[in-house]
Amino acid sequence: MIDSNRLRIAVQKSGRLCDGSMDLLKAVGVKFSLRDRLLIAHSTNQPVDLLRVRDDDIPGLVMDGVVDLGFIGENELEEKMLERQAAGKSSEYKVLERLDFGGCRLSIAIPSEDEYTGPEWLEGKKIATTYPHLLERYFKEQGINASAVMLNGSVEVAPRAGLADGICDLVSTGATLEANGLEEKEVIFKSKAVLIQRADELSDTKQLLVNKYLTRMNGVMQAKE
Ligand code: ATP
Ligand code: ZN
Repeated sequence: MIDSNRLRIAVQKSGRLCDGSMDLLKAVGVKFSLRDRLLIAHSTNQPVDLLRVRDDDIPGLVMDGVVDLGFIGENELEEKMLERQAAGKSSEYKVLERLDFGGCRLSIAIPSEDEYTGPEWLEGKKIATTYPHLLERYFKEQGINASAVMLNGSVEVAPRAGLADGICDLVSTGATLEANGLEEKEVIFKSKAVLIQRADELSDTKQLLVNKYLTRMNGVMQAKE
């Protein structure tokens, strides 16, 4: 059962944002025993429930007010916001804190043998990506006519498979690009993990609790600097 008096926080169930989010909750004193693979986990010492989902679902859960807070990468947050705006759905949220993990960049990369001349190289090209809205916004800003080919996985093999001329994907070290014969040419978005809150008002009790965790979070992050 979900109790609406308890603060609901969405976190990635497993993946690159999971440890950072759980460590931060632990550091501010919210404890869980995550022995199981359940969707919902109740804190053992605070009025907090965790919703453990795919990161792709987190922006929507916050924007629909289904959860109070969410830990999410800015890349996914911005993409979902643009997607929901285009679909006429609510896309409001508040950023409470930019966090010190989940850093990456969304970049355009093309086969190393191709000679890149600048953004105009992209004119008329097909670029495979999981972030079509962010990529299309970039094309628009640059005044380029190109198409975003949506792929949910294996984006980096799309050029070799003849599905696209280049890709637009998340990069941290660049090793995956290199392994696939691709070279990074343009960074179109720089991302970190953020903690967001639903746009509508929380009850006073819940907001006080959130503010208390935020103060502690700032302390924890400053201590790490
Ligand atoms: P899920 O099953 O939850 O959908 P996923 O495959 O989308 O998982 P992860 O690979 O765990 O996601 O990445 C989640 C987020 O971590 C990314 O959206 C991004 O914000 C961040 N991130 C940080 N570094 C990287 C990286 N090198 N590659 C991909 N994502 C990264
Ligand atoms: Zn995902």
